[in-house]
Amino acid sequence: MISNENSLSDVQIACDVCMREIPVSEAKSEEAAEYVFYFCGPDCYEAWSSQAADNTESSK
Ligand SMILES: [Zn+2]
Repeated sequence: MISNENSLSDVQIACDVCMREIPVSEAKSEEAAEYVFYFCGPDCYEAWSSQAADNTESSK
C-alpha cells in the first residue's frame, strides 16, 4: 500500500541544545540573524535563551 502521509512532516532536524533529532513539524524554532535555531521542547528553548541572556550580560 502507498502511504498517504505528507512526507514534508518527516523532515528531521537536530535540536540546537541537546542535538537530539526531532521532526521539524514538532520543533520549536527561533529565528536569529541568518540562522534558525530549533529546539526539541520548551526545556531546551529555555536553556538556549538563558545562555543568550548570559552572553548579553557579559558585555560590560
Ligand atoms: Zn533538545
